[in-house]
Amino acid sequence: MTPEVIRTVETILLSIPFADGGAGEGLTPSRWSALDIVLVRIETSEGRVGWGEAFGYFCAEAVKAMMDRSIAPLMIGKRTDDPAALGEELQRRMALFGRYGVTMFALSGVDIALWDLRSKAAGKSLGDLLSHAPRDTIPAYASLVRYGDAGVAAAFTERAVSEGYGHVKLHEITKPEIAACDAARGNSALMVDVNCSWSQQEARSMARWLSDIGCFWLEEPIFPPEDFDGLADLAREGLALSAGENLCTHWQFAQMITSAAIRYPQPSVTKVGGVSEFLKIATLAERAGLTLMPHSPYFGPGYLATLQLCSILPGEAIFEHLYVWPAAQLYPDMPLPVLGRIARPTGPGLGIEPDPAVIARYRTA
Ligand SMILES: [Mg+2]
Repeated sequence: MTPEVIRTVETILLSIPFADGGAGEGLTPSRWSALDIVLVRIETSEGRVGWGEAFGYFCAEAVKAMMDRSIAPLMIGKRTDDPAALGEELQRRMALFGRYGVTMFALSGVDIALWDLRSKAAGKSLGDLLSHAPRDTIPAYASLVRYGDAGVAAAFTERAVSEGYGHVKLHEITKPEIAACDAARGNSALMVDVNCSWSQQEARSMARWLSDIGCFWLEEPIFPPEDFDGLADLAREGLALSAGENLCTHWQFAQMITSAAIRYPQPSVTKVGGVSEFLKIATLAERAGLTLMPHSPYFGPGYLATLQLCSILPGEAIFEHLYVWPAAQLYPDMPLPVLGRIARPTGPGLGIEPDPAVIARYRTA
């Protein structure tokens, strides 16, 4: 039998506007108001189609250029049955162009599409391919954007809690906003993600206060995110720390896990190298007795891949659901949180197929 090989690799950019009730500022280089999604579509010699997602947002065009010019041509004619092996080959071929950033983002999208294909070839969902007993539903947390306004932040915290979320994550960076949300959270757990905004000294004093108010985890407290010594120093305050969305490959996670005393490693499937690297990180975390809390502010194949991966992890990961309202969903019957849980889609591959009409309407390149 001739093996199934890659016939075409296409990179599609979508821009789907969203509303979030905030000013759209503080986290991104300029106003953030659209989901800029990089879709990777691979078609095989059997006519099978696999979908992946590369990290996009404010670097979507650069990721597409990397795919079209350098990575896609290396993939034509390659076998699809061993995503991890092809992924490693591509990592070696692309090593001169960075082990982080657009290169790894693009390779992540490729790897997710290859796992979609492999699961489809087996006639199973990714969760069912990887485990005999994947979870049917996954707990989710509301990941609020940064509002920079105590009243607005508290109102959205209250709203998420009233919708049944047991966990709410803030992106606020100052005490008044965080304190207002803490007062509004009822019995739900609160996490705080400051995206590397604090100095070591500020982080130390805030960690003590956050510990006093019962914060569940503090995410990316200091800059740069790969300052593992600084993170290890901060971990001595006793508050659970999380980090990892800005690391790529299991090599970097191995360094962080051994040196930084991070309680919740946070691989991002569209950045870290896809499903293959994520699975290696899951093994490292399990050996260290740590629970992964994946980074997933996505609404495309990265969302579905993360759900499938959460369903098979040994510890109970809580899925990050970005608390925004997109103008359209890429998937019909998009599995969204209900009372703080998401039902895992069980169709072949990632579980559901994207809606061609939504792609046509929101495609920019
Ligand atoms: Mg984060």
